[in-house]
Amino acid sequence: MDLQYTPEQKEFRREVREWLHANAPKEPLTTFDVKEGFEQHCEWEHRLNEGGFAMVPWPVEYGGRGADLLEWLIFEEEYYRAGAPGRVNQNGIFLLGPTIMEYGTPEQKARFLPKMASSEEVWAQGWSEPNAGSDMAAIQTTAVRDGDDYVINGQKTWASRGAFAHWMFGLFRTDPDSERHRGLSFILVPLDAPGVTVRPIEKLNHKAAFAEVFFDDARVGVENLLGEEGRGWQVAMSTAGFERGLMLRSPARFQQTAAKLVALYREHQHDCDPSLRRRVAELWMRAEAYTLDTYRTVSRLLAGGKIGAEASLNKIFWSELDVALHETALEILGWRAELLPSAPAAEGVGEWLDGYIFALAGPIYAGTNEIQRNVIAERILGLPRK
Ligand SMILES: Cc1cc2nc3c(=O)[nH]c(=O)nc-3n(C[C@H](O)[C@H](O)[C@H](O)COP(=O)(O)OP(=O)(O)OC[C@H]3O[C@@H](n4cnc5c(N)ncnc54)[C@H](O)[C@@H]3O)c2cc1C
Repeated sequence: MDLQYTPEQKEFRREVREWLHANAPKEPLTTFDVKEGFEQHCEWEHRLNEGGFAMVPWPVEYGGRGADLLEWLIFEEEYYRAGAPGRVNQNGIFLLGPTIMEYGTPEQKARFLPKMASSEEVWAQGWSEPNAGSDMAAIQTTAVRDGDDYVINGQKTWASRGAFAHWMFGLFRTDPDSERHRGLSFILVPLDAPGVTVRPIEKLNHKAAFAEVFFDDARVGVENLLGEEGRGWQVAMSTAGFERGLMLRSPARFQQTAAKLVALYREHQHDCDPSLRRRVAELWMRAEAYTLDTYRTVSRLLAGGKIGAEASLNKIFWSELDVALHETALEILGWRAELLPSAPAAEGVGEWLDGYIFALAGPIYAGTNEIQRNVIAERILGLPRK
């Protein structure tokens, strides 16, 4: 095992750092949960793509730079270090992109990947339905073949960034008589197609973080089927593996939060509970452990391995770490944690509260942590289902 970076990797880091220093927005963008902020983020993605940094591990012909996953981790470290904007097309570049690389035809790769890299087309994820959340195999939305089209009927919900996204990928029942995991297909649907209605779902802060999407005889061409008809579950599990096991939450995100937590503790150590010192140190170590574990996963993938059920361990680790980091920050801040952003003493405080509220969703999205524990029990520990 060689834990040193090569001269080429160090040079790549320097290049990324310099480019981000020169190009990353100096002020935070408006949230992508509102139209104006969504467009600002798309513009930023466009600039990132022009710089060749939208998705460094992708082949050059699809908008990447043919880097390996270790360089992607280096890129991510520099990206979070620079405080650059959240990735509005994360469902595309981190989840669907790698799935198209694995299952897509050459035509699908050429059609979808470059526009994904530039965020000319932003993607929403269409798994959840009103009666299918944790139990995804219960989905009912149908896509029935009619000549060269699928005719889609039903409803998806909780599609993050769905209010403004251009496309949705999702699982649809192509065999209406099938049950559970069988008879499902992975289909790519333009959200402006006739018969598709997108209804934003507002959060308590009135921002449209999600959408529900209705399909009434919506038609999409069969060329939008990814993988084989009826074998969509396998394709979707590959997407979920990338989501939980590697790409959605790169370690740099938590390393940066841990570093900020250490700084926050140093600033407030004289007026907060001294026992928090130990907790801060432990959380910093957990963020480092997550980083090392991700380097291990990437080394395994580079040696030809695949992401399997251990992605569930990963998902539990990062989502619980995120909650603990933010919870500890709020304890350090004490009464200040509850200040409105307009209060004179509130500078930098709101960020922790917002982060905490979002962190609470981590154990729910990408498959709840209870479901991940079921996967670990059955598929890693070999325990009986009942
Ligand atoms: C911030 C956020 C973003 C999201 N983005 C998207 C998106 O882009 N696209 C999308 O399709 N969905 C998205 N979702 C939806 C998410 O995938 C679902 O909320 C999640 O899968 C849980 O489904 P549910 O809400 O229907 O809860 P339910 O499935 O009804 O579960 C309720 C509770 O019961 C527990 N439970 C259920 N079954 C079991 C079991 N077998 N064993 C043990 N416990 C169980 C669950 O863990 C949970 O605590 C998002 C959710 C959030 C919070």
